[in-house]
Amino acid sequence: MDTCVESQSVAITDPVIAIMQGSVAPAKEAEENERGAGTSYANGSSADASSQTKTPQSEPAAEKSPWSAWTWLGLCKSPSRKIPNIVHVDVDAFFASVEQVLNPRLRGKPVLVGRGCVASASYEAKALGVKTAMGFREALRVCPKAIVVPGQYEHYADFAERVRRILETYTPAVETAALDDFYLDFAGTERLYPDYRGTLVRLRMEIFKETGLSVSVGAASTKVVASIASRLERPRGFRMVAPGEEETFLTPLPVEKLHGIGHVHAGALAERGIATIGQLRGVPKAALQAAFGEAIGQQIWERARGLDGREVLLPSTPKSVSRETTIEGGTIDTEFLGGLIEYLSERIGSTLREYGKQARTLGLRLRYVDHFSAHQAVRLSKPTNDERELLAAAKELFSKLFTRRVAVRLAGVSVTNLEADRRQNELFDTSANRRWYLNREMDRVRGRYGWNAVFYGKGLELREHYATKPNGLVLSTPCLSR
Ligand SMILES: [Mg+2]
Repeated sequence: MDTCVESQSVAITDPVIAIMQGSVAPAKEAEENERGAGTSYANGSSADASSQTKTPQSEPAAEKSPWSAWTWLGLCKSPSRKIPNIVHVDVDAFFASVEQVLNPRLRGKPVLVGRGCVASASYEAKALGVKTAMGFREALRVCPKAIVVPGQYEHYADFAERVRRILETYTPAVETAALDDFYLDFAGTERLYPDYRGTLVRLRMEIFKETGLSVSVGAASTKVVASIASRLERPRGFRMVAPGEEETFLTPLPVEKLHGIGHVHAGALAERGIATIGQLRGVPKAALQAAFGEAIGQQIWERARGLDGREVLLPSTPKSVSRETTIEGGTIDTEFLGGLIEYLSERIGSTLREYGKQARTLGLRLRYVDHFSAHQAVRLSKPTNDERELLAAAKELFSKLFTRRVAVRLAGVSVTNLEADRRQNELFDTSANRRWYLNREMDRVRGRYGWNAVFYGKGLELREHYATKPNGLVLSTPCLSR
């Protein structure tokens, strides 16, 4: 057996050496691979989805050369060129689009979201001249038929979360820059996604299919260029700027497109006859620093060249998880409070499993309407992320803490002392294993069909008190989006 493996590795090494020595074959093969990837995009199928039943289009091209198989195994240098790995995804007219998804009667109509001034306007309203941050009086003068809605932050946070979850299935490096603004880093995924453009197109289509929201996508080597690229052709924009072509891409654009240049700076530049980024690039760094200050001058100088040292920031692993909510008017109903604690425990269990964590300590907090507050934590007999175990501990704490005949206006559950999920400890514990499989399937169903697709019987009562949303219940405090 050993001999066999060894002989295989010898066979592999030779072509690798040949490639590293710069023989003609790999270059030709790289070209073929690229062409193959291009074809697959044109056909509208993506070569990267291993779960899809369709045969990836780029494979026939790869099969022509025996070396490409080794390329896939990661045994020789990647033949693919550098990709514009930073991707900016921006939801088009976010608040207004969510309102249109939630209320079909608003679809295709000019919708304004906000109180006092326009926080978000649908593209139908924008086409008539409404701009974000415009006062309602002026917006309604420009667009008298506009439908004004006050806005539902709870739902926006939910939709943003759903978009983020879809993005995370493509790459783990997803940074939420704002509620509807995401930066993704695809560096190192060249082999996973040989058809990079097709992958980004698929990502955009998947978000639309799953959430009903349209997004604009921009890809480049830096954040600043990617964000300009995504915003250039909204709505449903799609722009890829190949590495090395940043300056050409930026040259004809107006200076206002650069992040950090507002109307004041743009006005100051216009006075000096500088309207485009290309013209701005002709200004020496010292002159920009003299006009705008050292830091901003330096930043403008860099951004005009598409330079941006900012990296995509990865979400950090939590040290603790807590979920709490206020109860309007307070309640003394122990059944209701029990249901609420159960729901909060479920949310915590789900979050822990999402991060692959287990908790050692669980805490419960109650605040009464007279502002008296009680908190207690307990060390669990073994670390867990199973909501039933978390709930058992939380209910025990509740019976200890809820001693006063005063209405409770806040209930919160928290877990600390998190450690990595070590399921193998329970290999022979059938009951725990059953729970593990049950939780896994519940997470899967909820991930696909929303939180309310499946819940325990006791959750019914809670659903009579609260409205439901795709990602759970609409509680009084919007702290439960995750
Ligand atoms: Mg947006």
